[in-house]
Amino acid sequence: MSAIPQRALPAIPVTEVAVAGGGFFPVRRVYCVGRNYLDHIREMKEADERDPPFFFQKPRDAIVPDGAAVPYPPFTSDFQFEVELVVAIGRGGRNIAVADANSHIWGYAVGIDLTRRDRQRDARDMRLPWEVGKSFDVSAPCGAIAQGCDPAQFGHCAITLSVNGAERQRGDTGQMIWSVAEVIAQLSRQVTLAAGDLIYTGTPSGVGPVVPGDLITAHIDGLPPLTITITPPEA
Ligand code: MN
Repeated sequence: MSAIPQRALPAIPVTEVAVAGGGFFPVRRVYCVGRNYLDHIREMKEADERDPPFFFQKPRDAIVPDGAAVPYPPFTSDFQFEVELVVAIGRGGRNIAVADANSHIWGYAVGIDLTRRDRQRDARDMRLPWEVGKSFDVSAPCGAIAQGCDPAQFGHCAITLSVNGAERQRGDTGQMIWSVAEVIAQLSRQVTLAAGDLIYTGTPSGVGPVVPGDLITAHIDGLPPLTITITPPEA
């Protein structure tokens, strides 16, 4: 009688994001758009404004929920926020047409692309990948996903972020260089999108550093807000 195959380790936990009104959305992959608001490209002085957007990933277990404490990460002294509209994919595909892209969307959320800006700039200067600056523990706060939204609603609405009650970022999703539908279409030409994918769609200007004790609140009109607190580094 052969032995029943056993897992070498306990099963890896599934990452899920809360759904507004109840339930959870399972997360498969987390994609981010590198540049999508002109005023942020200008403040970063890092690219030709006509460059197409590019994509990178964060590990899905980097997601932290609304209300979470985020320990100040190691390996940086310039830990920064970027508020972003997050698109939750409900139906996958590849080579998705812009005109069909909205039918692949399950919902939307407010997200923050937390960044080690010093490490991101080092990587840029050394022509190395951005990963150390972008893809690390607790780097992807994501608020509750609202389902059934009209995609047109998020084509032109306020996106803001405050630190300790002082507004630091204010933009409008209408300022995106590449629309949500165009982002989905472009990304789906590079990888096969699938249900459970999240796409962080880029940040407007005003990004800046935080320190332990800071309370960060992010808002996008029509979506549940997202609040996190930066806590001291873990021992
Ligand atoms: Mn970003």
